[in-house]
Amino acid sequence: MKHLLRELKKQEEKLFNCVQCGFCLPACPTYSRLGDEADSPRGRIHFMRAVVEGRIEPGSEALNRHLDRCLGCRACESVCPSGVEYGRLLEGAREVTAGAKPPRFLTRLLPWVMAKPSLLLPGMFLARALRATGFPRVAARRTAEEGFLGQLGLGLGMIAATAPPRLLDGRSGGAAQGEMPDPGELMGQGLRAGLLTGCVQAGLLGRVNQATVRVLEANGFEVVDIGGQGCCGALHAHTGDLERARDLARKNIEAFESSGLDLIAVNAAGCGAAMKDYPHLLVDDPDQAERAEDFGGRVRDVSELLGGRGSQDPPGGPGRPGRPGSRGIPGLRRGGSVRLRVTYDAPCHLLHGQQISDEPLALLRSIPELELIPLPGHEECCGGAGIYGITHPDLGGRISRDKVRSILETGAQVVATGNPGCMMQIGAGLEAEGAAVDVVHPIELLDESYRRGGLYS
Ligand code: SF4
Ligand code: SF4
Repeated sequence: MKHLLRELKKQEEKLFNCVQCGFCLPACPTYSRLGDEADSPRGRIHFMRAVVEGRIEPGSEALNRHLDRCLGCRACESVCPSGVEYGRLLEGAREVTAGAKPPRFLTRLLPWVMAKPSLLLPGMFLARALRATGFPRVAARRTAEEGFLGQLGLGLGMIAATAPPRLLDGRSGGAAQGEMPDPGELMGQGLRAGLLTGCVQAGLLGRVNQATVRVLEANGFEVVDIGGQGCCGALHAHTGDLERARDLARKNIEAFESSGLDLIAVNAAGCGAAMKDYPHLLVDDPDQAERAEDFGGRVRDVSELLGGRGSQDPPGGPGRPGRPGSRGIPGLRRGGSVRLRVTYDAPCHLLHGQQISDEPLALLRSIPELELIPLPGHEECCGGAGIYGITHPDLGGRISRDKVRSILETGAQVVATGNPGCMMQIGAGLEAEGAAVDVVHPIELLDESYRRGGLYS
């Protein structure tokens, strides 16, 4: 058992950074729903300290229950005045609890499949075939039911949510608008980027990867195919399987570093946050630590690459209404009009995990005539949190229904969010309500604008 405590003990100092002030409590979705201090960040940190100090056993039922209920959304990190790195603490603590008592079957199954292409690829093929029958869309209405039927309905609803959006057809719109940068001034000019294609993204949302490549190339990036890449290991790390996460990180470093890249582009927020954290994950590996440092420093979310940090509209914060024709991002090509009402939901691992808030909004505001509607609660988790929505249907379902209600109240036709898990969870919730609202990645809207503006012809 001692070796299981090693990771958490290494971070003991971080545990004691928590001054128990409680500022994080209102930001925590599980605390706000359950009202139990043990289900708050402060309470969970208290449990972690107790384990490290030997006051409770790693196999304790209470410890397991309260850590298991954590979404891992890291909203507590964004508001913590003491800079407590809660996400890393949680991963270390989950390694302890998973080692003391095997996690539930689904929590082990899905990460295991993700790491095995021989199972993942046929699984994704079957999911696409099922999606084509239209059955998942019908079954998604059963999500509200109790027990297994509800979980099955959610799983099928998540598959249905990956169907191509109804409103992005590339048919209407006008010519490219606004000032166009000279080819030599495009933001990606001369930069070689490799794209993480991902597991679910490649299997069910391949269109997002295709749109990402088109948009990056339109902006001067040279996008290089990276063979031998695999799962980023995020799910493994979040569920406490840090050894498997390290193996996957080593494999990706090997695959990407041989291509002489300037940058590694990621369009899945959860994967990007995990890959930026490879230096921490491999800090004790003498062969990999330096390589991981170099790798992590090159990882960029696609909104970060294109959204022009510092070049967005004047201060005012995320969620302000878009202004048709507002000035563009220097070095970013402008496309044609996309006359849609769009709202944006921030993926936790982009907003809290990578502290990227304005860039996706700047990208959306750069699209002529797109109406950007603020989403109340955009900073709160959608309830998906990897596979949380499936493993915790009650609490995940409550959080998810609040998000869907908030989206529907905006009257938006489209909701944009930059993570496949969030797209699927929100999409399943909308399917369950029978709401005809498309869920897309922000890059798809930019791609649509380029297509409507004739930039690809
Ligand atoms: S805000 Fe930070 S320091 Fe305060 S209780 Fe929460 S984790 Fe601890
Ligand atoms: S990660 Fe999210 S759910 Fe977990 S303690 Fe922090 S705010 Fe609460």
